[in-house]
Amino acid sequence: MAFLPVPKNGRDIGQCIYCDSIEEPLAKEHAIPYGLNGPWTLLRASCHRCADITHRFERDSLGGLFPAFRTVLRMQTRRPEKRPKTLPLVLESRGAQRTIQVPLAEFPLYLPTPRLPQPKAVTGDHTANSASVKMDFMHVAGPSFESVSQKYPDVDFVGARLSFAPEEFARTLAKIAFCAGVYTLGLAPLRQSPIRQIVLGNDRDVWHWVGSWTGDQINEPKGLHAMQVRASGSDIHVILRLFAQFGAPEYHVVLGAADQNFVNSSAWPWK
Ligand SMILES: [Zn+2]
Repeated sequence: MAFLPVPKNGRDIGQCIYCDSIEEPLAKEHAIPYGLNGPWTLLRASCHRCADITHRFERDSLGGLFPAFRTVLRMQTRRPEKRPKTLPLVLESRGAQRTIQVPLAEFPLYLPTPRLPQPKAVTGDHTANSASVKMDFMHVAGPSFESVSQKYPDVDFVGARLSFAPEEFARTLAKIAFCAGVYTLGLAPLRQSPIRQIVLGNDRDVWHWVGSWTGDQINEPKGLHAMQVRASGSDIHVILRLFAQFGAPEYHVVLGAADQNFVNSSAWPWK
């Protein structure tokens, strides 16, 4: 079973990849959001209506998870003049919380790495849901929470603000993986993919298709983000690794079966 790296040169689609609308203007679609320095774009690939939907859940999921990360690593922004010079640190003593602002170099930077159940489509275990999601943190830069807490002897707890919506996070992974599939194979073979209904919010069972990857490493821990597309029979799978260079975990998205005519054609890459 060969793995195909996802090419970085965007295809010009000329149609909304989520709803097939051909109504102009069609927007450029970043597989991984611009704000996370995602390198892959599809040209003329999203209608206004679908862009509103995807931008909302990307903002709700990634915006709440990685704000400090984006600031300290100086990831690209359309409003560089608004880049914060300090970050909020939450201090708790005797159950009362207060927030102080600290310079970026003094901020304990941790990468949140959600651990998801495996996709139900893979395990056949139908109990997976948002309650099975666990959050891990990887220390990336600055002091540790422990060393910061030693600076404030009266404080019982030091932490950072984080908002995490597991289903919206999984839906964002679904969207990224679907874009990777379209990059690699084009839209036509994936028009029947169930992921389109997940992205549009018509199907709420995101844990059926999206989860953590627990097999051998597919994407090496280098480069900012990495993803690969593979086939098992006619089923398309995407293994993706956000923040690969920090050793963050891999995720698995099942895109469903590719169109059978395409699978039987000479264009099918896994002959
Ligand atoms: Zn659309």
